[in-house]
Amino acid sequence: MRIAPGDNAEVRLTISESYSGMSLDIPVYVRRGTEPGPTVFVTAAVHGDEINGVGSIRNLITEQRFELSAGALVLVPVVNLLGFERHSRYLPDRRDLNRCFPGSKSGSVASRVARALMDAVVARCDYGIDLHTAAVRRTNFPNIRADMTHPKLASFARAFGTELIVGSKGPQGSLRNVATKRSCPTVAFEAGETWKVERTVVEYTLRGVRNCLVHLDMVAGRVEQPPYRFETDTTTWIRARHGGFLQFHVAPGDLVERGTPIATNTSLLGDELSVVNSPRGGIVLGMTTMPSVSPGDPICHLAFAKRGALRKAEKAHQEMSDESLHERTREDMASGVLVSEVEAD
Ligand SMILES: [Zn+2]
Repeated sequence: MRIAPGDNAEVRLTISESYSGMSLDIPVYVRRGTEPGPTVFVTAAVHGDEINGVGSIRNLITEQRFELSAGALVLVPVVNLLGFERHSRYLPDRRDLNRCFPGSKSGSVASRVARALMDAVVARCDYGIDLHTAAVRRTNFPNIRADMTHPKLASFARAFGTELIVGSKGPQGSLRNVATKRSCPTVAFEAGETWKVERTVVEYTLRGVRNCLVHLDMVAGRVEQPPYRFETDTTTWIRARHGGFLQFHVAPGDLVERGTPIATNTSLLGDELSVVNSPRGGIVLGMTTMPSVSPGDPICHLAFAKRGALRKAEKAHQEMSDESLHERTREDMASGVLVSEVEAD
């Protein structure tokens, strides 16, 4: 199928066959600018329960928020259709599609789905954006993950415009790892929770996709810069020391210092069992949304960076308006986990 410059088209990509023997197709939306330029894909629901990206892509298609002057945009709202149909991260055989790239034509279901996407989409694209959320019962402050040692990818990742960038090549077999190796530099965007379409996450996504297209001269305008940048390759999960019921003191996006209380662990009658503190200064990248924990359960995902970066972030936090997307996102996420002040002695 040929799509003329300036045109849109809906394409169906056959990824597998169902138990009843019917062909399983995923919808793909392609938009072409009038001038030549790069081709960029945006994929969502590689993990079938991570649907913030599905809602964001729907918005990109229905609202047509920007004029695409050059290149082409390939939108795949649901990659893992078999997982999506079951509200599940995994394929029906329990495989994680995001560990099965590049896949093969003769392998497992997951491997074949991966291969179909590689051949039909990734092989034709110059850049990619893969939309994810935190895993089940967790939430993430919007952040970009990319191999920041790859110069073209690093500038694309920065253009997306999140405050927080976690540098890594990505897991073996993940879409972004494999696509980047195959000359299609790809970022993963991680934001919010599973099973939800969250308004501030959608807003971050739309701004980020537009920013990336502006950066590649596919859309006119300026890249909207974040109020600060915090790039790190060091993150750690803070775990519960005891079982119990948590009261949270921080929300995703908050800055912490060494010793900042993260959560108080209480009995069901409210007796304090222990307080979990931050071991270092950093940013709350993600959190559990499940307040009842066993010893060793992850509570809070912290991102660490050099002191200077933290100081700059602190200054930016003080100057940010309550109306800014950053602050609205922080507020939305804090209400989702019910954050309370630490009680004074
Ligand atoms: Zn995911």
